[in-house]
Amino acid sequence: MREQKKLIFEMSTPGRVGFSLPEDDFTGIEVSSYLNSDYLRQEEPNLPEVSEVDVVRHFTTLSSRNFGVDSGFYPLGSCTMKYNPKVNEDVARYSGFALAHPFQPQETVQGNLKLIHWMDQMLQEITGMDRFTLQPAAGAHGELTGLMIIKAFHRNNGDTERIEVIVPDSAHGTNPASAAMIGFKTVEIPSNARGLVDLEALKNTVSEKTAALMLTNPNTLGLFENEILEMAEVVHKAGGLLYYDGANANAILGKARPGDMGFDVLHLNLHKTFATPHGGGGPGSGPVGVKTELIPFLPVPVIEKLDDRYYMDVERPLSIGKVKNCYGNFGVVVKAFAYILAMGAEGLRLTSEDAVLNANYLKEILKEYYELPYDQVCKHEFVLSGSKQKKQGASTLDIAKRLIDYKYHPPTIYFPLIVKEAIMIEPTETEGKETLDAFAETMVKIAKEVEQNPDTVTDAPLTTAVGRLDEVTAARTPILKWQPED
Ligand SMILES: *Cc1c(COP(=O)(O)O)cnc(C)c1O
Repeated sequence: MREQKKLIFEMSTPGRVGFSLPEDDFTGIEVSSYLNSDYLRQEEPNLPEVSEVDVVRHFTTLSSRNFGVDSGFYPLGSCTMKYNPKVNEDVARYSGFALAHPFQPQETVQGNLKLIHWMDQMLQEITGMDRFTLQPAAGAHGELTGLMIIKAFHRNNGDTERIEVIVPDSAHGTNPASAAMIGFKTVEIPSNARGLVDLEALKNTVSEKTAALMLTNPNTLGLFENEILEMAEVVHKAGGLLYYDGANANAILGKARPGDMGFDVLHLNLHKTFATPHGGGGPGSGPVGVKTELIPFLPVPVIEKLDDRYYMDVERPLSIGKVKNCYGNFGVVVKAFAYILAMGAEGLRLTSEDAVLNANYLKEILKEYYELPYDQVCKHEFVLSGSKQKKQGASTLDIAKRLIDYKYHPPTIYFPLIVKEAIMIEPTETEGKETLDAFAETMVKIAKEVEQNPDTVTDAPLTTAVGRLDEVTAARTPILKWQPED
């Protein structure tokens, strides 16, 4: 049953008010007598006339229509929707962090500069890189920054003909998009039958035009590229660099380091792996790490330490410049910093072990009911195909919508592009076995519904305030205000 609660626009009663004020303004002066008439209303606005409790109920109803990690299981593949510990929010709100002004004299914000410097060092240790910038505000922004650094590096070597960035066909859409924004040409290489980069194809693709290979490992199928060292050698021999899309580092913490795999530049998503909230367009953070030879090209300022003093170094002639105002989304960095310290090395290692265990656990249950195109041990996520269900009359989109009726956020669907009817599931480490079992049971139930009566699934969701939207129109020309029905 759809939610029937009325919003305040529909319960207006003429003359009802939610406040009481003195008849006469106690100053005795009419507002209209001292405000310029340009600022005065020409006609009364058409607002709902309701009581205070109606207003409170209206907003409470609206807030409960939202779905987040705090309301339920959110296995959105490639997005790492893990639980975000609330203590990190407390730490980010300490007045020394929250109230500092970005242009305050450096002597007065030594602690904050130390935090940035310290975070840089911890990320170096986790990834095997030599230096970080914490400026970029998102993963895609990190990609853009990293590719700018790669371009500056080649140009500084007089290598102006290196204009190609190689990406596998399983790549996240932001990879070719970032490359194109920098003016690189993207060249796609196919995956092999095991869902991994085809090494022979890579050998045939690299040339004196290769600027970089962009790769995520584990890849978007959740599979580890075990020929990465050979791939690095091929690219480096051709004079290119390796870029690591580390948005999904949740499987490798304390286990493997991109810096040891041969990568030269990477970004991390603090708002995925390092437990800071995301979704809904909130602030993110996509730190970029580089190997020694690329440090001169990092954005300014770089936080340096001289004796006991931290300072912002801007005297870096080869720097690509600033990529974000001030020093990035500092509050997000503070939350991730608190998370890393709270977890410690052992905690981070366990994070990855549990993330991988949870993904494999679900995969083994669900592969009996849904096709699993790449049937191997996975890392933090796995990709099913809804092809069998599609033949029975319900698509992957229908299955995703049906999950909403059962109070789950749907997995990522139709990505990666190389899997037909893709259903990409990433449970993360913060979910317990009971949650995974309940979700698996629901997925099995839906598979059975499709078998017996696909209509129950193709009409979903049946329990939400609104049914299916035209997603293209909703994204391109959204109607964000309540409109009276004609
Ligand atoms: C999420 C993600 C990105 C982009 O990160 P944003 O912060 O959304 O810009 C890039 N690559 C991969 C593999 C991702 O999962």
